[in-house]
Amino acid sequence: MTASDWNKTLKQLRNKPAVMQKYIRHCKPKVRKTGIAARKCERCGRFGAHIKQYNINLCRQCFREIAEEIGFNKYN
Ligand SMILES: [Zn+2]
Repeated sequence: MTASDWNKTLKQLRNKPAVMQKYIRHCKPKVRKTGIAARKCERCGRFGAHIKQYNINLCRQCFREIAEEIGFNKYN
């Protein structure tokens, strides 16, 4: 499981509070300072193909969807 969807696990454990406490204490993914897991898309949470230029912080797929809304023009 990736760090992006560990909150799904918490959602599953919501009805089991003791198990959830144990999960948080022992199995919660680390907060990463470096590497690919340190940067994720602000819109969808994807790790790959991250664009951080101009502080966009989106993956390429989300950037492609909303590029014109945030002011980029497509030339060709
Ligand atoms: Zn995205």
